[in-house]
Amino acid sequence: MPVKGRVEVTEKYCKACGLCVAACPQSVLSLAMDRLNSKGYHPAELIAAGCTGCGICAIVCPEAAIEVYRELAKAAQPVQER
Ligand code: SF4
Ligand code: SF4
Repeated sequence: MPVKGRVEVTEKYCKACGLCVAACPQSVLSLAMDRLNSKGYHPAELIAAGCTGCGICAIVCPEAAIEVYRELAKAAQPVQER
């Protein structure tokens, strides 16, 4: 089962450089062309399912505007004896 992830972009820090969009191997990031942040830039946003939580977007972001979260793998359940 693939690891699930999600990202949170602190939009006020984003300068719309697009590095995260270009670097995402899952192509699930885009610049939000429907709005501007407080600095007048179109902020990056998650646009689709499929984020694996790889963290590449956070690493390449020069503004440290992205936080990545991964879903923890569930612990194996013990087999019940009858
Ligand atoms: S954590 Fe990885 S898969 Fe998820 S948005 Fe960032 S670069 Fe893409
Ligand atoms: S890399 Fe950072 S500053 Fe550049 S578009 Fe992505 S979130 Fe915004």
